Amino acid sequence: MPNSKIDLSISALQYVEGIQSGSFTAEEFVSSTLEHIKKHDEKLHAYLDLNQTSTQQARVIDKKIKSGSKDIGACYGMPISVKDNICIRDTRTTCASKILDTYVAPYNATVITKLQKQDAIFLGKTNLDEFAMGLTTEFSAYGPSRNPWNTDYVPGGSSGGSAVAVASHMCIASLGSDTGGSVRNPASFCGVVGFKPTYGLVSRYGLISYANSIEQIGPLTKTVQDTAFLLNIISGVDTHDNTTASTASVTGTDYLDGIDAGIEGKTFAVIKEMINDNGTDPRVAASTKKAVSNLEKLGAQCTEVSLDAVDYSVAAYYTITSTEAASNLARYDNIRYGFDFPVQEYEFNSYISKARSRFGPEVTRRMILGGFVPSAGQAGKYFLKALKVKNKLCKELDAALDSYDFMLAPTVPILPFKLGEKIDDPVALFLIDINTVTANLTGKPAISVPFDNVDGLPVGMQILGDTLQDKAVLQAGYSLQNTVRNDLPEVALA
Ligand code: GLN
Repeated sequence: MPNSKIDLSISALQYVEGIQSGSFTAEEFVSSTLEHIKKHDEKLHAYLDLNQTSTQQARVIDKKIKSGSKDIGACYGMPISVKDNICIRDTRTTCASKILDTYVAPYNATVITKLQKQDAIFLGKTNLDEFAMGLTTEFSAYGPSRNPWNTDYVPGGSSGGSAVAVASHMCIASLGSDTGGSVRNPASFCGVVGFKPTYGLVSRYGLISYANSIEQIGPLTKTVQDTAFLLNIISGVDTHDNTTASTASVTGTDYLDGIDAGIEGKTFAVIKEMINDNGTDPRVAASTKKAVSNLEKLGAQCTEVSLDAVDYSVAAYYTITSTEAASNLARYDNIRYGFDFPVQEYEFNSYISKARSRFGPEVTRRMILGGFVPSAGQAGKYFLKALKVKNKLCKELDAALDSYDFMLAPTVPILPFKLGEKIDDPVALFLIDINTVTANLTGKPAISVPFDNVDGLPVGMQILGDTLQDKAVLQAGYSLQNTVRNDLPEVALA
């Protein structure tokens, strides 16, 4: 039964405490969250589908807890939402695309299996830009999500539904995917924490690929501690994903332990190209100054540093990701997945093009671009050049990380904007990714921490660290979070 006295805004760690101390049951929490969703999600549209059995699952977990069973998992029935490009067995998984409208996943992503073992409950699948291409969630084939801070504004994307669900307490935490900022961008726009782990730290098995050479699954949470808690569960080597890291330095790492180590004596490089010439909103630039001053007050040192290749990173990113997308999405030919329409009436090309007319405008744009840029005669001009930029960016960043512990920048150079405002200007949208794509192109870990609220809209700060230094990045994020956490306003739902 729903219990209106339950505070749905609590963090994952507070949820665990609440369950352990008997303040509420998993069933009460889950059913209260479902009530809250019923009330608010018609407007916000964070969810594409809800799990019809979550209250039953909660009941089973409550029984286990009551019986004093030792094999209760670390999540204690915590309701988590999942971006709809991550497979949950026997659950519709659409990637917010009409082309997968009826697709039901026959297997679990590794992250899902791991969370299930820890008794997490998957409350539902969250909205995204179609196949995770975009940064406003407006490219969802099922309609956009809305920013809970102001419903006229976009929530960011592509994991917009996940960020909205966490920010408006329609789940405790969520999983998203980050190819060029899709966890961090909506986290910043909605005022929650978003983390892109080092490439290979978290298995991608069961994440439907967009640009698999650079993307990672990452948590969206209310606090940095919650991100560490989830990373403890979802990270680790996986035989289903050969790109997962198995080095001794990360195996068995406890990301929560010592999260309060502090940042005294740590050095931060503030990346010039991410605050000056890229159309940074002055209000965001002012927040960045404040972040620098807060870090320095904690004993860190901040220095402005130039990374020249950042200026070319967005062009390289879209060249590389479109190429991978065109290849990854070629499987949607209506032969292996698809719809019933009579083959007899078509010759091959018109059959395939009829099937692919179900892709929306942004995915179509990327597939056309991605077919062209690596093609014979063009590859040297575009694709190979993009790889050179990626290489240069890696070298410049590695050199900077030899001298500094972390890189600091606003997660997004601008504040959330109105729905519809930029939807017809793809290049303007691409350029907004300037501060996030570097972490993906170089494989580095990066966190977005809610840091400010300007004119009623959230601003996130990004901390990037070295490969497999995810724990250090979380420690730095925790320190920065705590300089403002008690001063930030609460979201007020209408
Ligand atoms: N906006 C970027 C893109 O459209 C990032 C998307 C993502 O990280 N999935 O490619």
